[in-house]
Amino acid sequence: MTDHSEDSWNPQTALVHGGVQRSHFGETSEAIYLTQGFVYDSAEAAEARFKGEEPGFVYSRYANPTVDMFERRMCALEGAEEARAMASGMAAVTAALLCALRAGDHVVAGRALFGSCRWVVETLMPRYGIEATLIDGSKIAEWKAAIRPNTRLLFLESPTNPTLEVADIAAVADLANEIGARLVVDNVFATPLLQKPLELGAHTVVYSATKHIDGQGRCLGGVVLSDKEWVDEHLQDFFRHTGPSLSPFNAWTLLKGLETLPLRVRQQTESAGRIADFLAGHRKIARVIYPGRPDHPQADIIARQMKGGSTLLCFEVAGGKSGAFAFQNALRTVKLSNNLGDAKSLITHPATTTHKNLSEEARAELGIGDGTLRLSVGIEHGDDLIADIERALAAA
Ligand SMILES: *Cc1c(COP(=O)(O)O)cnc(C)c1O
Repeated sequence: MTDHSEDSWNPQTALVHGGVQRSHFGETSEAIYLTQGFVYDSAEAAEARFKGEEPGFVYSRYANPTVDMFERRMCALEGAEEARAMASGMAAVTAALLCALRAGDHVVAGRALFGSCRWVVETLMPRYGIEATLIDGSKIAEWKAAIRPNTRLLFLESPTNPTLEVADIAAVADLANEIGARLVVDNVFATPLLQKPLELGAHTVVYSATKHIDGQGRCLGGVVLSDKEWVDEHLQDFFRHTGPSLSPFNAWTLLKGLETLPLRVRQQTESAGRIADFLAGHRKIARVIYPGRPDHPQADIIARQMKGGSTLLCFEVAGGKSGAFAFQNALRTVKLSNNLGDAKSLITHPATTTHKNLSEEARAELGIGDGTLRLSVGIEHGDDLIADIERALAAA
């Protein structure tokens, strides 16, 4: 226990000190390098930097010191060799998928995807000759049945939005390795603290840093984490030349977010578990789905691959849409918003907001009913949240 090298840091320590590159001023907090470009001491130095013979920065579309600190801190947390920070979660997802594929390739994806991810897979990629099959990601037999000779990539979210279904990441990773495909995991709902897809065998992990990593509702961001060889060979040129770069200011905000991530996620998960137990015993609640409860349909997989429950829960209010609306409208502390992972507790009615573009049939397939609500639990005191929910249920 006396080894204090960076490699052996616990997440709490890596998230405070990881990736720091201090300037000669010795600033405590990470500096914000709001600069587009960099100046060179000589023409020879510029030449050497462009040749890659001398380390250093060239242009902030390629790399920037503040963004670099965020990428290094994310690598330390995730146990990844390389990271590229991007302007949003969707920029990260799109890059992680497109850079691994070309026309003629086939993708298998769990169908319970974040709406924009589903659009990329179902609508954008086929325009460029990449076909996709969407399946129930919680059933390993469906993954196997969907494989074709040209399947190059498997893509999943776990737990899923909004019904918190869980896929067996290690089993899907084994399947990917068997057929020489890559597994990309969108790990937003689990957070990097509660689930480590790379350790489970995934090849690439993506985050919307907009969610728990910022966690205070301030800025958008995203990140792709993978092995160095893949980033160098497949992602780097796309990244440099198409420009999904993260702003240095947003990278700094996200660095500050990472410092408190473990404190926030611990509080959020603890309160989410308490709220799930409270709702499970309430007569106006038809169903509660929470990855930390033993009655979750994939409780055995959760015990194997997650370190805790979730900061989110999904539940069904009796009385369908009108019951769910009346309950939402009676809430005071919990705010109505489609965002998640925030310090403030946020609730949304997926059927009329995030999932309104899906057909009723597609919603039913995902288990989204008229009374389904998704609650993202914040860092308020759990007693105050339960009191707000109890009062709103009584009023509904
Ligand atoms: C929010 C989210 C995204 C997209 O992230 P943005 O930062 O909004 O672009 C992708 N996947 C999941 C699971 C998300 O929750």
